Amino acid sequence: MPKRSLEKLVHHLMLLALIAAGSASGEEACRIELVVLGTGQDAGAPQIGNREDPAWSDSSLGLTATSIALVDHVGGKRFLFEATPHITDQLQLLDSLAPVESAGLGVDGVLLTHAHIGHYTGLMFFGREAAGAKNVPVYAMPRFREYLENNGPWSQLVSFENIALVELADRESRRISEGIEVTPHRVPHRDEYSETVGFLIEIPSARIFFLPDIDSWGEWVRDYDVRIEDIVQSVDYAFLDATFFDNNELPGRDMSLIPHPRVKQTMDRLGELPDDVRRRVHFIHYNHTNPIRFPASAESAEVRKRGFNIARAGDRHCLSR
Ligand SMILES: [Zn+2]
Ligand SMILES: [Zn+2]
Repeated sequence: MPKRSLEKLVHHLMLLALIAAGSASGEEACRIELVVLGTGQDAGAPQIGNREDPAWSDSSLGLTATSIALVDHVGGKRFLFEATPHITDQLQLLDSLAPVESAGLGVDGVLLTHAHIGHYTGLMFFGREAAGAKNVPVYAMPRFREYLENNGPWSQLVSFENIALVELADRESRRISEGIEVTPHRVPHRDEYSETVGFLIEIPSARIFFLPDIDSWGEWVRDYDVRIEDIVQSVDYAFLDATFFDNNELPGRDMSLIPHPRVKQTMDRLGELPDDVRRRVHFIHYNHTNPIRFPASAESAEVRKRGFNIARAGDRHCLSR
């Protein structure tokens, strides 16, 4: 085929892919999209033994653990940030919202922040008991990579080549696909088995920061010289740790001993930023006790009134048209 015709054909196919992506979202074609797959703390909601949780009787109130997906509709690629224990349902949600033509899972890479149960244990479903995946790239920091390589059942995923580990380095950007770069930033958190990072995701038309877990904003400044207000001002979207709303949330426990910036404290810290900057914040990773998990709560209304957003599973953000 002459080169000119081939170029025309490729262009035609790309347009078709865009039209398909557009019709799937019911609006103008979106080239690169971010989809929120889960917004809960590691164990989601309802939690084991917690008989009072209203989600037992109304499953629409349930939470899966925090995860987001990046979908490249033109290249037909999808990337998951975190592999949660709820990955089975979350991939189904992604397939229903942003499907890709693929014989397999349609997962072209998984980026992991740290080795706490809600963030990586979904990798087990890539093994032979479930998907029997073939060399899914899994991006992790050096200690985390070593942990996965040397401890079962994760080591078996490596030796059976269900996953292919890719080592990341702090503050070094890595191209995960044409036009998509990701940079891990270390943050203070309980690092028993691995480092903990937040991810800066960059495409030509947008920057996103994904930070589901951190001990405190002050320790980030002290240990790494990074200020959350600078991060929020430098991106288009910031998905930030919202584990607890305030210190009244766990009756009978001294919450001053429990890490994580409270949502109230984060809103105070960022409260002086302009409207269009505060709006970039999407609170995520909320505990089952955090009232912002309920969209109709007074606390959710307070967050909205102060100009911030709360991430909800199924949220879709078009990053590039
Ligand atoms: Zn967590
Ligand atoms: Zn954690």
